[in-house]
Amino acid sequence: MKLLFAPLRDCLRLVLKLPCPICQRPTDRPTCPDCERQLHHCQFPRSVQRQPALFAWGGYQGALKRAIAALKYDNHPELARPLGHWMGTAWLASHPSTSPIIVPIPMHPKKQRQRGFNQAELLAEAFCEQTGLTLATHGLERMRETTAQFTLASAQARTENVKDAFCLGRSFQRKAPTPPVWLLDDIYTTGATMESAAQTLRRQGIRVGGVIVLAQAGDSSSVMDQS
Ligand SMILES: [Zn+2]
Repeated sequence: MKLLFAPLRDCLRLVLKLPCPICQRPTDRPTCPDCERQLHHCQFPRSVQRQPALFAWGGYQGALKRAIAALKYDNHPELARPLGHWMGTAWLASHPSTSPIIVPIPMHPKKQRQRGFNQAELLAEAFCEQTGLTLATHGLERMRETTAQFTLASAQARTENVKDAFCLGRSFQRKAPTPPVWLLDDIYTTGATMESAAQTLRRQGIRVGGVIVLAQAGDSSSVMDQS
């Protein structure tokens, strides 16, 4: 239901200025020019993409952290579109000749009903709109509710929390995809959620090329096992 208001909000922006979802100053753009400039400061330079199986657009800090909070917890799904487009532009610059299938990390249906949308799915839609890559929205499904990863302190607790949380979704149940899958989510912390999701696909013989995230938290040393 909440999602219906996003296109309406875009139309309203054209005729009257609405508050910037990040700083509340009036603007006729998805974010005000000042927040947009600050968001671009959070983008990693291409030389920072050290881990071949992890594509992170920027660092989970400052304006990007505030934008993700506004998107998820303050009901601003319309922010996913520009952010997903920027992720797509950066992907095209660094992975011009690869054509994976994009699978967003699913939310548990109950949680998605409460929020009204899945931010990973909205980011993936905008990302695929920009890159032309194939989107498999239902490549995975979340079988059980998990505790929010950021509330858990240890890496072991995070791994346990998301263990066997996913199953193969209806997009792949009849036929496994031929190209490799890249998973897409909003935030990457220890990689436990991504690893659990990747294992679910690999168990079905589906290749996982890597993970794409909007924001990478901290100095993560976790690298995806590509075996
Ligand atoms: Zn602003």
